This record gives sequence, C-alpha cells and structure tokens, in this order.
Amino acid sequence: MDKRDLLLIPGPTPVIDEIYEALALETRGHTDPRFVEIYKHTIEQTKQLFQTDGEVFVIAGTGTLAMEMAIVNTVGKGENLLVISHGYFGDRFTQLAKAYDIQVDVLQSEWGEQIDPSIVEQTLKTKPYKAVTITHADTSTGVVSDLDTLVPIIKKAGALVILDGVVATAALVENMSKTYGHPDYKIDVVLTGSQKAIGMPPGLAIVAFNQTALKAREQLGQVPAYYCDIKNWQQIMEDPSKYFATPPINLIYAYKEALDIVLKEGMEKREKRHIAYGRGIRAAMRAYGMQPLAKEEVAAPTLSCILYPEGVDDATFRNALALRGVIVAGSLAHLAGKAFRIGHMGNTTPEMLEIAIEAIGEVLVEQGYSVNIEKAKIAFKEEIEQAVLK
Ligand SMILES: *Cc1c(COP(=O)(O)O)cnc(C)c1O
Repeated sequence: MDKRDLLLIPGPTPVIDEIYEALALETRGHTDPRFVEIYKHTIEQTKQLFQTDGEVFVIAGTGTLAMEMAIVNTVGKGENLLVISHGYFGDRFTQLAKAYDIQVDVLQSEWGEQIDPSIVEQTLKTKPYKAVTITHADTSTGVVSDLDTLVPIIKKAGALVILDGVVATAALVENMSKTYGHPDYKIDVVLTGSQKAIGMPPGLAIVAFNQTALKAREQLGQVPAYYCDIKNWQQIMEDPSKYFATPPINLIYAYKEALDIVLKEGMEKREKRHIAYGRGIRAAMRAYGMQPLAKEEVAAPTLSCILYPEGVDDATFRNALALRGVIVAGSLAHLAGKAFRIGHMGNTTPEMLEIAIEAIGEVLVEQGYSVNIEKAKIAFKEEIEQAVLK
C-alpha cells in the first residue's frame, strides 16, 4: 500500500489498521448469530459511552441523518425549536427544522465566539420551546459549547436538550447520566457520526435518547418520517436479530473495534488528551504567527480554525501541504480563503501532529515567511507533556 496521507481535516479522521482490518472481515448475513452478537455488543458499548439508561440507535447513515432523527422524533410540526448556533452546523438544524414545518428560532454567535448564556435564558422566556439544540463543538469555527452553563438554563425552561456531538463524541465527555445542578437536569439526546473522534470511516448515524426524550417521541404519535422514525428501530435495537433495514455489517465490525479502543482508553483520559492536542496545535500555530479564530477559553479540543497571515493563499498553502502528505481543510462561508481548519482528534497521535506542524512550517517558509519550526514543535510538545504529567 502507498504511504497514507495524514488526514487532518475535521472528519473523516485517520483510520488505524485495527479498524481497517475489522472492516475487511467477512460480510455475513444480518441475521447470522455471529453478526447479531457483535451488533448487540456495540449497542451496549454505545450505552456505556453515553452512560445512558435510555435507548441508543446505531444505523447506516451520517451525522446529518442522526441530526434528523434527533429532531423528527422529539419536535412536532408547529412546535418551537431553539437553535444555539456557533457556526455552520448549528445552522444546519435550522434548515432541517424548516423541512419539517417546525417553528425555529436561531441564536447565532459571531463566528469564533460563544452565545452569551443570558441571551439563551431570555429567549427561552419568550415562548414554550420543545427543544434546544447545542452543537458540542462547531466544525466550522472550532468553538466548543459550555454544557455546564447551557444545560441547566435549558432544562429550567422545560425544554429538551439535544446535543450534536458529531465532532465531539469520543473526544469530549458526553455523560447522559450526569445531572447539571438538579436531579432532573440532564442531556436528553446525543447524536453523532462515525467518522470524527470515533475514528472510523463515515457511514454510521448514532443517536442516544434518554427516558424523557423517549416519552416525547411517544407523545408525538405519528411522525413524518419512516427510515429515521425511532419507533421502527426500537425493536431492532432491543433484538438485533430482527429486521427493519439491513445494517451496515462491516461498519458494525469496525464500530466494535473503534469503541473497544475508546472505552479501553476511557473518556476522561481521552478528553484530557484532546484538550492537550488542541492547546498544543494552537500554541504551535501562534508560534508561527498565526491566530486561531476562537479565543483559547472557547476553543474546541478536537479541531482548530486558524486564520492565515496576510498574503498566504489558501489553495497554494493547502496544495503544498498535500504534496507533503498532510491534508487540512479550507474554511466555510465568509471565512473561505481566509483560514484553514485542522482536525486533531480520534486516533490521531502526537507524532502525526508533529509531522503536520513541521510541514506547515516548511510551507510557510516556502511562501516567504520566516518561522522557527523547532520553536513551534517545542510549544506543541510542552502542552502534550504537561497533560501526560497531570
Ligand atoms: C460533520 C458534522 C455534521 C454532519 O455530519 P455528516 O456525517 O457529514 O452528515 C454535523 N454536525 C457537526 C458538528 C459536524 O461536525
């Protein structure tokens, strides 16, 4: 096999050999007891990951399908949804809600900043909201949401908390049994995809509903959906030998492997590791004279959006990096051409990130900037070493 690229975009992320090997296992029938056993196991692992006593759904799809499942099974036509948006993926909830005739209001932050929680509090007083969405980390801006502040505000207002974990799950703790200041204040729904911090190829939609969210689904009666109606999947998740739609057999093999790795490392350790990656990468970029879009206090541990210095051409920069085998992403909307995004999550290692830092330094030098690559690498290593010592 050719030397692999270092895929440091905000998903998909580097897939390691153990996971590729699991993908390549024999494709069996979906009712074969040997497969059913594995599927059942991954459902239990998913419950463990989110520490939920509710139900989880693991089906073929992507993060967007998981978003749709979360919304369509909790908020009915004409009901109110509030979207807390820290960028592009927050806005996606708005489009989605409109497609289902849900009344949607959006609190949109400046890109790179968090929404002021007092505005959330005030907005929730204006009408009865059925649910509020929070994007745990926003993939367009590299801003992380403050769950400790937001969850109690939302629960106090009586709305469901829907957490988009697509670029956070398996990197940041998403503990559905955690209470936020009151025994009833918990995250109600978490949704995610396979290709970001879980470290798999794309192809799985993963959603967890707690008992409150399941009750909300019951109260809705019929929902305008079929494949993403969780009622069609509940029986399958309880007994995966039953059939509704063919599960993605090989992705389920890979998911088992990926979650073995996640649960063995443990979520607390993983969160610490990701926080260190984020700090380290941003310290290295600052050493190169480049500024992250998000301030350090609100920066996501899983990916960073880095503003180019004056005069760096986006396409030239990223192409030169790609020639060195390092793939980073461009930016979205009004930041297109002005910033790049680098993912640092999942099964990405400090060694991979060091290679990327070195390549970024070389490309900057090539473009006429004077930078000190060693200094940037040291800035990165200091953060990583500190985290290991803690
Ligand atoms: C990537 C992403 C999505 C969309 O996931 P797809 O798998 O591309 O459908 C949704 N939300 C967030 C926060 C994401 O990062």
